[in-house]
Amino acid sequence: MNIMKFKKVIAGLAIGGLLVGAALTARPLASWFTEKSCQSYVDENLNNIIKDLENAGAVGIQDFAPFPTVDIQSLESDIGNYWYNENRITLRPAKIPGRFASNAAVNCFSDNTNALRRVLDHEIGHFYIHALNRSLTDEHCYNCSWQDYEFYSEYEYIGKDLISEGIAEYFSRKINGTETGRECTDEIWKTYSPLDTEMSDEVYGDRYYGCSHRLVKPVIDAYGVEGIKRLLVNPPKTQADIADIPFYQNRILAELAENHQFGY
Ligand SMILES: [Zn+2]
Repeated sequence: MNIMKFKKVIAGLAIGGLLVGAALTARPLASWFTEKSCQSYVDENLNNIIKDLENAGAVGIQDFAPFPTVDIQSLESDIGNYWYNENRITLRPAKIPGRFASNAAVNCFSDNTNALRRVLDHEIGHFYIHALNRSLTDEHCYNCSWQDYEFYSEYEYIGKDLISEGIAEYFSRKINGTETGRECTDEIWKTYSPLDTEMSDEVYGDRYYGCSHRLVKPVIDAYGVEGIKRLLVNPPKTQADIADIPFYQNRILAELAENHQFGY
């Protein structure tokens, strides 16, 4: 989850690769308890989470061990981030105020670990996408270094991230359901473009995650891991693709249908 970068990219700022982490030197006591409780949840549930992800469509995830380490400590993090080059997930405790504080609630004080679970499923989904992409042969791998963003054009950058976020959301929503208010309704979808930045960060983010999910869902529902691979190797990469996401989706579905028809 690192969507807010994209508005900045679209606004013409330099594409900077990964976020630079801020050092966290001192923490309030309450935050320490949150972290400890979250960490226990992760330690106790990681294996079950991996199994649920596999059942939700992350085929072969068990083969991609070691699974990422999870650090709950972090101002460097959004609600959650997957740092692919370290195979590490960072989670930001809800006690630290920020733009997502109202709905983030990676909060392990209470019995309600739903939000934490949702974020973990999403971030481990990113781990799966990276691992699956690396496992593809060179022949099928459209730029195997999946998120070395600095090598890409602005449109490739957005396109690959849309696919990545969409697949991560697919797993998370299949396991946990859709968060109210983050749906990509028919009306939004018809004209959806991540290039349209004339809205608040919150609305932009909700639409980005909702519509990236809507983009990949019919592909994965119909074609499973083959659909995921098709999306990975064939993400939106031109301005035309990004400006008309429903059209791109139709193209991918048509390609997959044709391949099936001829028995590939
Ligand atoms: Zn994400």
